[in-house]
Amino acid sequence: MRALQVTTPGTAQVTEIPAPRPAPGEALLRVRYAGICGSDIQTFRGTQPFTTYPRIPGHEFSAEIIEIHGEGAGFAIGDVVTGVPYFQDGTCYSCRRGLINACVHNETMGVHRDGAFQELLTMPLDRLHRAEGVDPRDLALVEPFSIGYHAVLRAEVGESEKVLVLGAGAIGLLTMLSAQTRGAQVWIADVVASRLELAAQLGAAGTIDLSSTTIADVVTSATDGDGFDVVCEATGLPISFTNAIEAAAVGARLVLIGNGTAEVTFNQSILIKKELTVLGSRNSRDVFPTLIELLETGQVDVSAIRTRIVPFAEAQGALEAAAAGSRDDVKVLLEFPPAP
Ligand SMILES: [Zn+2]
Repeated sequence: MRALQVTTPGTAQVTEIPAPRPAPGEALLRVRYAGICGSDIQTFRGTQPFTTYPRIPGHEFSAEIIEIHGEGAGFAIGDVVTGVPYFQDGTCYSCRRGLINACVHNETMGVHRDGAFQELLTMPLDRLHRAEGVDPRDLALVEPFSIGYHAVLRAEVGESEKVLVLGAGAIGLLTMLSAQTRGAQVWIADVVASRLELAAQLGAAGTIDLSSTTIADVVTSATDGDGFDVVCEATGLPISFTNAIEAAAVGARLVLIGNGTAEVTFNQSILIKKELTVLGSRNSRDVFPTLIELLETGQVDVSAIRTRIVPFAEAQGALEAAAAGSRDDVKVLLEFPPAP
């Protein structure tokens, strides 16, 4: 079978490797769609500190079960599923307190262990979720959706609150959709016009082009100078963190999603003056069934976020283009060939 393998940083190729065999309690999956995420780009570039090589990226996927080793645990051959890609040890202090998303020894598919950019994949049954009523292209978006939804749960976003999302990439847009399910009014900021247009289509209360508007102007126009109840930071850029502090109302919650690598300098007294609550949000926990239901019932439509679908045979070029900084697309999905 074929896999997209990053052999060394900067070098990726679709290559032939042996098909995996499912262990007891595992399913063999035929991947249908897999999304290219920022962490896959980091794996390709060599900027993800935990990645070892060679590595198969990918942790956002939909797939079909083609074999089950042992008891089916409620699953059957032919089921269309997605899976939770963060593997925890189950024993560390985080896991013992239920914080499995922040396991001290977390291994994410595509980063610490091989991921979904391969035709066949094995997964433990207990991390699979079935979704017969969801388009398999949308099902591949459940994992990034879960990142936004977890952040919104962390911030306890509530009815009618004014929320600002900084960054209108896939995670920012999915954070916006998540906050909307809680009844919030969501503004979203970016510097790429096409992404803001997409956000407007998806029901943003307002879109903010930070290449031509300041945060102070936004606070005035959107909140009458009061500031936002919740600010979700989805870029990881230092300027965005200080923008988040500036945009926050007194008593607001700031939730950090964007995984930045650069240092940020700010005067901590502003956190005291505004009495802000700053929350980190890592991976997600126990939300896949909720999100699948939101998609199955049509309460949320994520289809506009997958802006391009590329045949798996062209995966190398798609990853290289994404790594070169192309911002034309929000979410690129790799489409795998059907069963031979
Ligand atoms: Zn653990």
